[in-house]
Amino acid sequence: MTKDMKDIVALCKRRGFIFQASEIYGGINGFWDYGPLGTELKNNLRDAWWRDMVITPPIGPDGTPLEIVGLDSAIIQNPNVWVSSGHVGGFTDPMVDCQETKKRYREDHLHVIKASDDEWVAVHEEAEDSEIEKRFKKLNIKHAEDLERTPLTDIALSDYSKIYAPDAKEKGTLLEPKAFNLMFETYIGATQSDDNKAYLRGETAQGIFINYKNVLDSTRVRVPFGIAQIGKAFRNEVNPRNFIFRSREFEQMEMEWFCDPEDAPQWFEFWKEERQRWWKSVGLKDKDMIFREHGQDELVFYSQGTFDIEYQFPFTAPGYGELEGVAYRTNYDLTQHQEGSKTKMEYIDPMDPKNRYIPHVIEPAAGLTRGVLALLCDAYTVDENRPSGVFLDFTPAMAPKKAAILPLTAKGEHPEIATKLYLELRKHYAIDLDIKQNIGKRYARQDEIGTPYCFTIDDDTVANGTVTVRERNTMAQERIHIDKVLDYLREKIDG
Ligand code: ATP
Repeated sequence: MTKDMKDIVALCKRRGFIFQASEIYGGINGFWDYGPLGTELKNNLRDAWWRDMVITPPIGPDGTPLEIVGLDSAIIQNPNVWVSSGHVGGFTDPMVDCQETKKRYREDHLHVIKASDDEWVAVHEEAEDSEIEKRFKKLNIKHAEDLERTPLTDIALSDYSKIYAPDAKEKGTLLEPKAFNLMFETYIGATQSDDNKAYLRGETAQGIFINYKNVLDSTRVRVPFGIAQIGKAFRNEVNPRNFIFRSREFEQMEMEWFCDPEDAPQWFEFWKEERQRWWKSVGLKDKDMIFREHGQDELVFYSQGTFDIEYQFPFTAPGYGELEGVAYRTNYDLTQHQEGSKTKMEYIDPMDPKNRYIPHVIEPAAGLTRGVLALLCDAYTVDENRPSGVFLDFTPAMAPKKAAILPLTAKGEHPEIATKLYLELRKHYAIDLDIKQNIGKRYARQDEIGTPYCFTIDDDTVANGTVTVRERNTMAQERIHIDKVLDYLREKIDG
């Protein structure tokens, strides 16, 4: 059964996962608010990453636990940070404008289908064949059956006159690609002049590089070690789209692994494996992910390797969209900051002071909010055999609520017993106590928010102390003693 993005977005709004930002004012393109359940889900993914990176980092290839420490750097830094990192000069995506519709597209997001020698039609890369056929019909152009696509990046400028831009009525309205800087600008202090200009960070990574020395000097870590950070990043994306996949404000989870240049290739292999394993551990299915090494022609000049972890989102299918990039960044960033700040970034081996070098860096850079979208898409399961017609199949660890307590009736002993159980369980897990409405509607709601277990309190509970447990995926029910509920959850959730 294919999953429809429209249904996923609607469920997210209906049940309080994700809302359009500033909705009551008509919204604001590229920004999203996380509702009560979306916040819980995002926190669960964030906490799992932090735990697996900083609290209990993986065991290294030689059997010793890795050393990774945390950081929370400012969103606004000295603007020279972004000059040295290359973001001010080069953090650009080539864009093409359409003269007719005034729309702007990322050059690498458009594909061209050649109907004849001089009638070519540009489409969004994720456009489905059915949409494209409609577009051809509207333009009254016949097309070859295979709808073969050529990336716009492979089309010569001299051929632009043959292209119908998406939504344009006339041919040849696309303009030459131009660079577009993605950094959000702001001003510090009372005057708004170029001298006071600053930037909202475009990635969390640079905050780590500029604190590498501070961390070395203030803690006991020694190379190899990592610094991890989770936080907001801002990019003035030209075409924010696909729900929270590409937004202008989003969250990243990045770790910079500082190592001896000689060992860097082995660490690159290590982190590639480790990060694939991690995404599976939070519930993404192997069959929906691919792991793609960039070809030489795709690499930025300072990188000696990049490996993308990609997920098959409903809007990219049958293709994939990036979730995380694992990059071997050499000593590029530290060297840039050494030059820009005149601060030495050299590492001196404590065992052998003659051994000095600027560490090389392996960077696993993941999107937290994009990860939330992957979890939601993955969990969304259509099931016509239940009243809600759908349930969210989260792993218990990711589920916003681990269990719901449902008294069969809203008056008398049922809610009393339910409240007592709720007060006990909530010391250990995120629990929902839901008293009103008929039981079918309450099960439906719990299915839609992905609660793995429901405990129902009824007359038998009053008579013999047993409750009904309902398991989300199978809808199977069994009775267990109320004193055993916590143990039951512990076993199911913590294994
Ligand atoms: P893209 O090619 O999709 O623009 P990128 O390669 O520039 O992404 P990185 O700079 O490597 O992305 O950022 C690391 C991660 O941050 C990405 O893998 C993605 O999960 C997340 N990310 C980047 N841009 C956005 C965005 N606009 N909205 C949401 N998440 C994003």
